Amino acid sequence: MDQELKKLRDDYRKNILPSSYSGALHLILSILGALGLIVLASTQIKRRSYGDLLFIPIAFLIANVVEYLAHRFLLHRPIKYFMVAFKEHTILHHSFFTHDAIEIETSKDFHRVLFSPSAVFFFIFIIGTPIFLMIAHFTHPSIGWISFIVGVSYYMFYEMVHTICHLHDHHWAFKIPGARFLKRFHQSHHNPKLMQQYNFNVLLPVSDWLFRTYKN
Ligand SMILES: [Zn+2]
Ligand SMILES: [Zn+2]
Repeated sequence: MDQELKKLRDDYRKNILPSSYSGALHLILSILGALGLIVLASTQIKRRSYGDLLFIPIAFLIANVVEYLAHRFLLHRPIKYFMVAFKEHTILHHSFFTHDAIEIETSKDFHRVLFSPSAVFFFIFIIGTPIFLMIAHFTHPSIGWISFIVGVSYYMFYEMVHTICHLHDHHWAFKIPGARFLKRFHQSHHNPKLMQQYNFNVLLPVSDWLFRTYKN
């Protein structure tokens, strides 16, 4: 790691990060919060037919496209009312982790990997909920709730996979099939020369393949 990056990380941990911050707690609360929403939403589903479950892969594909578009056009473009997203992601996340120094050094660095509570609120309730409501309107409320569950699960797995992408290669998480591939895929995205053009999916590069921005 070069000295400039080392200094940037040290400054962040010392001067910006609240001393009470716990990366483990941030990760646990993110997962528990998502699980809580999933359980609540599942109580709203009125069982009609197993055919409704066919909507799961469709909702997954919608979530994958939303992840792709939000990452490519909200997090990587300086847009007037969304500057905070650009700053948090392109400026801070990408300068803290580059392709040749992508690994976290301490669980405190989760602060630069996981979404903040306000970002989670924005993605689930401001971007996601209108989509779920529209699906419910054109299909059935239960299908709307199923798509909500898929969307929240997508967010939860996104956080887990993104965290794994920022772990050292020798971590036990890389025994999970596909984890090493997803890390290499995301690592290419952290190359400053490639980050504006390639590999915007984190969970599964379906949209990158569809929109021809896949690079490994
Ligand atoms: Zn990353
Ligand atoms: Zn990015």
